[in-house]
Amino acid sequence: MDSLGIDLAVLGQRIRHYRSRSGLTLDALSAATGIASSILSLIENGKREPKLSALGEIAAAVGVSVSELLSPEAPNSRAALELELQRAQNSPLYGALGLPSIRPSKALSDEALSAIVGLHRELERRANEAIATPEEARRANTELRELMRSRNNYLPEIEALAEERVRAAGHRSGALTHREVSVMAEQLGFQLIYANDLPNSTRSITDLEHGRIYLPPASIPGGHGLRAMALQAMAHRLLQHERPTSYAAFLWQRLEINYFAAACLMPQQASVRFLSEAKAERRLAVEDFRDAFGVTHEAAALRLSNLATEHLGLTMHFLRVNGDGALLKGYENDGLTLPTDVTGSIEGQWVCKKWSARSAFGERNRTTENYQYTDTPVGTFWCATQTGFTNDSEFSITVGVPFDDAKWFRGRDTQLRASSSCPDEACCRRPPSGLASRWAGHAWPSARLHAHVLSPLPSGTFPGVDDAEVYEFLDRHTETGSQL
Ligand SMILES: [Zn+2]
Repeated sequence: MDSLGIDLAVLGQRIRHYRSRSGLTLDALSAATGIASSILSLIENGKREPKLSALGEIAAAVGVSVSELLSPEAPNSRAALELELQRAQNSPLYGALGLPSIRPSKALSDEALSAIVGLHRELERRANEAIATPEEARRANTELRELMRSRNNYLPEIEALAEERVRAAGHRSGALTHREVSVMAEQLGFQLIYANDLPNSTRSITDLEHGRIYLPPASIPGGHGLRAMALQAMAHRLLQHERPTSYAAFLWQRLEINYFAAACLMPQQASVRFLSEAKAERRLAVEDFRDAFGVTHEAAALRLSNLATEHLGLTMHFLRVNGDGALLKGYENDGLTLPTDVTGSIEGQWVCKKWSARSAFGERNRTTENYQYTDTPVGTFWCATQTGFTNDSEFSITVGVPFDDAKWFRGRDTQLRASSSCPDEACCRRPPSGLASRWAGHAWPSARLHAHVLSPLPSGTFPGVDDAEVYEFLDRHTETGSQL
């Protein structure tokens, strides 16, 4: 392209086309226009931009108007193929292959040119197919969540595999130690090596030839995260994963390796024994399960969701919610209505402000779980929420059950009670009418960009921004006269 947006390759093709049609050689055109034939050759090959005066000379010599020369269409089908070949060969996709470029000279037959261009088209189509769009990713994620819901979040084959590997490593009870994880790796023919230069885009890298699993260095020696990552790397081998061919296959592998790691850190038999005793004594608590097995609150809550229905006869829900109220992960088989977008995707959707997953952010005491009963249009649920911080934001982890099953849990005697009518917008999404009439048209929030790839932008007057929260903020600060 030149500075005026003219495609020089197309212009060159058109000049060559009209020159041949008028039976002129390059030298004859040079004589007629006074432009050196070497320059004309560069122009015809799209490597030089002609001056406007030169264009006028050329147009007159070949008997067409300047605007005819400047048309953006390829002059004939052969020229169109040549232009397409040129574009394809200049693309990064072709460049990455390290293959030579072909000049579409006269020696190249139309048939050969068509075949090569056809291969380029197919190469590009396959490359595009391989890139999962955010929409495809969300759809695959939703299908996976529905599949796991139908299986009560339980995968018996992986439970059995994890139990077997953990026993073989000599583990008998309590938390799986870092040493036992190393033994598990050795039994698979792998050595765990800690490297501080792993690529940012990887969690671990396995050297299949030398039997090494490279992991990031421990921020907390032997911490849960490190044991989990080593176990996930081993799971790829144990489950004989092949290179995923679709986004759905990639997500399924991720789910399987996470499941395997959790089932090793909290083995089925020991976990079910622990949880069943707690249930019998009516003191079930995710925090106790977490502490007994030395894992994070989130890992313990998710693990409970694997075992609760199959082994404890309980249906339940799990939520991980960001400090801004967006749902990052969710699971339910107890009928709770999770917020969804039109495609059925839950990630990035706002959770009701009345739910304990969000109201717990306002609680002062963060050392223990917050308990709350919430009335919803589909029944009353009891929930236990633990809040915490990551590097850049706060989050909450919630486990909840229908009202009738609260009796098995510690915290069932909470006096906290809330009422939610979500997804009815009047519940907590619509600004109160007084605030709306005061601030609509007078507020200009700048939205924070959600980094999470699966997050769609929740809709509001400003994409990704909660109007009610903006108006309340403005009101608060206007009334108190606070200034920056
Ligand atoms: Zn609500």
